[in-house]
Formats: sequence, C-alpha cells, structure tokens
Amino acid sequence: MAKPTQPSEIARETLRRLAVNKTPPTPDNYRTIYHDITGSQIVEPFPERSLKALHASLPRATPEQVRFARQFETAIAAGNWESFGAALTDLLGKSGAEPLAWSTLIRELIQQFDTHHAGLTAAKKKETVEHVLAVSGTPELLFSRLQSAVRSWSHTPVGDNTELVSGVIPEASSSSPASQAGPGTRHTGGAATYEQPAERGDIGELQDLIAQLLDNTLSIVLAENPELARESTEIAEAVRAAHNAGELGALAGRLKKLGYRAQYVAEDQAELKSALLHLVHLIIDNVSELVVDDHWLTGQISVIRELVNEPINLRRLDDVERRMKDVIVKQSSLKKSLSEAQDRLKLMLATFVDRLGDFSEATSGYHDKIETFAERISKANDIADLSDVLDEVMRETRTVQINAARSRDEMTVMRARVDDAEREVTRLQSELAHASELVRYDPLTGALNRKGMDESMESEVARARRHGGSLSLAMLDIDNFKKLNDSLGHAAGDAALVHLSQVTREAIRPQDTLARYGGEEFVVLLPNTPIDDAVSAMVRVQRELTRQFFLHNNDKVLITFSCGVAELRNEETPYDALKRADEAMYLAKRAGKNRVIPA
Ligand code: GH3
Ligand code: MG
Ligand code: MG
Repeated sequence: MAKPTQPSEIARETLRRLAVNKTPPTPDNYRTIYHDITGSQIVEPFPERSLKALHASLPRATPEQVRFARQFETAIAAGNWESFGAALTDLLGKSGAEPLAWSTLIRELIQQFDTHHAGLTAAKKKETVEHVLAVSGTPELLFSRLQSAVRSWSHTPVGDNTELVSGVIPEASSSSPASQAGPGTRHTGGAATYEQPAERGDIGELQDLIAQLLDNTLSIVLAENPELARESTEIAEAVRAAHNAGELGALAGRLKKLGYRAQYVAEDQAELKSALLHLVHLIIDNVSELVVDDHWLTGQISVIRELVNEPINLRRLDDVERRMKDVIVKQSSLKKSLSEAQDRLKLMLATFVDRLGDFSEATSGYHDKIETFAERISKANDIADLSDVLDEVMRETRTVQINAARSRDEMTVMRARVDDAEREVTRLQSELAHASELVRYDPLTGALNRKGMDESMESEVARARRHGGSLSLAMLDIDNFKKLNDSLGHAAGDAALVHLSQVTREAIRPQDTLARYGGEEFVVLLPNTPIDDAVSAMVRVQRELTRQFFLHNNDKVLITFSCGVAELRNEETPYDALKRADEAMYLAKRAGKNRVIPA
C-alpha cells in the first residue's frame, strides 16, 4: 500500500492501526503511530507554561539563586533545552558538590610566596594576602580571590626583586608601610601589583598590563560571578600568549563582550549598594526615633547618618570606624564605673537605713524603759526607792545619749559619703553623655571636626538670623607647612598643629569657635562680629603666635598662617561665605602669606 500523504489519510490510517493493534487511543499513542506512518521525528513541544510556573516558584533568597532564576528565565525565552542544561550545570557546579581545593591552594600560595618574583617583594605579597583576608566575606570569595592572587604571582616573571622600571605606569602614591621596595615600585593598595622587568617592549608591556588588569583586578571584581571571572582569567592567558598584534586584535570581540557583562555586574553591585544604603537609612531613622533620649547613642547615630548621606569611600569608613571604636571603648569603661558607683551608692543607702532602724530601736527601747521607770516612780514608797530608780534613769539616759551621739556622727559621715557617691554618679553620667560628643571633635587638636563645625555653624547662623546679629567666618591655612613637616618630621608637624590650636583658642573669645577644616586648615566662627573686628581678631591670633613660639627640641619655630575672612550675607549660606573666605585666604597666600584679607 502506498504511503498516505494527505493529513486526513494519515489520520485515518493511524486510527485503523490503533484499532487493529488494540492500542489504547491516548494522545501519546496516536502521536507515536502518526510519526511512524509519516516517517517523521517526534518533537516534544516546549512546555513553556509549566516552566514559567516553575520559574515563578523558584527561591530567590541568595544572589546565586537570583542569578539562577534569571538564567532560567532566559532559557524559557529562548525556548530551548540547551540553555537549561547550561544553567543547571552551572548551578550544580556552584552548589558545593565540589569542595574548594584549599590544600592545593595553600600549597601553591606557600610555593609562590617563597619564589622571588621581579618587582614583587614578600611584604607586598603579604599585604595582598592581608587585604584579601580583610575584604573576603565568604569562604568561596576568599578562595577565588586568593586563587587569583596566587595565579597572578605565578604569571609574574621570576627575578631577584631589584630591577624595576617605571615610566609606562602612572604614578600611584602610597603611604603604606608595606611598600618599602626601591624606587619605581608601584602598588595599588589591593591584590594587584603592576611591575614589569625592564627588557619588555612597549606592546609587550601593554600586553602584560592588559593581562594583569584582567587577571588581578577584573577577576577579583567579578569574583562573585565565577563564570565571568574565569572568562577574564582565560582572556588574560590568551593576551599573554598572543605573539603579535594580529593575535591580540583577535581577542577584541571577547574583551568587548566581557566588558559589557562586567558593566552589568557593576551596575548590579551599584544597585545593591544603593539598596543597602537605603536599608541603613531606614534603620538609622528608626533607631534614632527610639533613642532620642539616649545620649549614649545619639552621637554615634548622627555620625553614621552623616556617613551614609555622603559618597562613601574606604578612607572615610576607616576614619569613622576608628572614632566609633574610641567612643565605644570610652563609653563601656564609663558605663562600668557608673554602674559600680551606683552599686556603691545603693549599698550606702541600705546601711544608712539599717542604722536608722538600729537607732530608732534603741530609742524605742529607751521609751519602754522610761515607761517602766515612770511606773516604778509612781509606786515608790520612799526616797531610797526613788533614788535607785533615778540612778537607773540617769544611767539609761546617758547610754542612750552616747548611742544617739554616735549614731548622729555615723550618720553625718554616711551622709557625706552618699553625697560624694551621688556627685560621682552625676559626673559619670555627664561624662558618658559627653563621650558620645567625642565624635564631634578632632582627636589631635581638640578643635571641632568637620561634623562639629557643620553643627556649630548651623546653630550660629540660626542664632544670627534670629537676633539679626552679624557672623564672620575666618579660614586660615598654615604657611609652608609641608616644609615644616619635611624638615622637622611629621610628629613635629602634628605638635605644631596642636600648638596653633591652643594659641588660637586662647586668643579668640569664649563664644568664638575653632574647627579643624582639613589637614592644616582651620575655620574660626566669630558670632556677633562684623568683618573689620573679625580681621582684627585674626591679626591678634597672628601676633600671639609671634609671642608664643612653637618649641621643637627647645628651638623656637615661628608658625604663620594666611587667612581670609568673610561676613555672612543675608542671602547666602554659611558654605558660600566659607568659600569667599577661602578665596580671600588664597589671595593672602598670593600676596606673600602671613596676612589676613577680608573677602
Ligand atoms: P602653603 O603655604 O601654600 O599653604 O604651603 P603648605 O606647604 O602649607 O601647603 P600644602 O597644601 O602644599 O601642604 C600642606 C601639608 O600639610 C601637606 C601635608 O603633608 C601636611 N599635613 C596635612 N595634615 C597633616 C597632619 O595632620 N599632620 C601633619 N604633620 N601634617 C599634615
Ligand atoms: Mg592647605
Ligand atoms: Mg598650607
């Protein structure tokens, strides 16, 4: 029989075979026989709806899970199983089925640590490891970052640690004690090191730089996305292996694609950061509402709020962390003293009450006795009886008197001690409240810091506007301070800053405020002071500095400063006024320093 070709004929033949073979007429059996007749292949329909339902119910608690859900969705949209396969393999690869090969990594780490690499000192390797340890929050991250670092060392040419070149690489300064290698040493403060031996040509150096950028930096940035990190490392290897410009150029496409994908990751991270910051804001707002009366916390909270309000950088985070730690240490020791003082006070009060009880017991005993005596006196028959009773009365009275006097003395002493303890508790409480304020002061000079200055400025401006008084702001910058630092050392520079603050504080009026604006720049707020008076006040500070020399190893060192002064105008913000003062200060510098110029 000829093979049926018309759909209706195929259908008829299919039904016939179902009946002849007594096969149950299910859709699956029908389809199988149908394809058997036509000789075509069975193509499973893509279960888009079911998969979408599955996708909707996937967990999204971790970044891994979110990423998997996203891959899943892409695979549904593409309508093919291959993408699913890839996503599942990826997921299983990450699900910890394969333990992190720590022992291998540590062995390689030790081996690479002991190898001398060109331009890579042991100190720098140590610094890299410390950095990675400090910034990697999970074992997986730690593993992959350490692995990247070790890999980048292993790609660095072996050398004797001395021959380094500069020139191609832009200058990157560092204050880290770990970077003590010779001139030309570069370090990025992170896991990467960018030195190359001298004999490489320009293209070769560029090639190495690209490879190192991919290997050291990008793969660490992408560590949370192993697939991209791997791609980055692979391209790095290909870049290194390229023999000519053509081979290098062939990698452009991969590089471009990696760039796009890295950009998405960066955007994701930026979004994550802003979501986290938002959360921190919410928490701070909530907490600060709960603790309005708690002086212990308000200082810290306002610092954190200020921190999250401004662009965050690691340096600022560090600084705030350090200050918070100081405050927390101080507060906890104060809290301890406070609770000890309170306990002492309680104990004294308890003793006091006990003594009072003893005393009243003694006197009530006396009352009882007196009653008995009164009875005996009323019953006395002759003078002899009476005299006996009187003797006893006298004796008892004297005892009570002595006891009363002793108790009174004891109570006076106790009273004084309770007063002392109470005073101590009050003092500790106010010191505790003050500790929170510490975050408003610059720890070196004791002048207000920027935050303290902002707050003071705000309240002074409000006051000036309320009462219609004038407010002047002076900005001063020490002259040739770098030279002083260079010739006498940084510690002397610090001491000079302290000296200047002291002299200034003594020379200005108590209602004036000194704040450290930056390194060697200070701001003085002068309420109720028109500009001319403010200029005179600052000239007075200058004169005072010529009288009270800064002493360094018993040598007199003259510190001078240049200063600009501005009076707050009605329509401007204090920051505008400060800017004018700053501009006037620069004029003072240009005019030869050591002078005060009104804005
Ligand atoms: P000018 O007269 O033009 O102001 O010159 P200068 O040297 O004072 O100014 P410059 O801004 O070039 O240098 C300021 C120096 O102040 C640089 C920095 O090392 C130093 N410095 C900043 N903060 C501190 C600090 O806290 N302690 C010490 N010792 N030095 C500091
Ligand atoms: Mg300066
Ligand atoms: Mg200066």
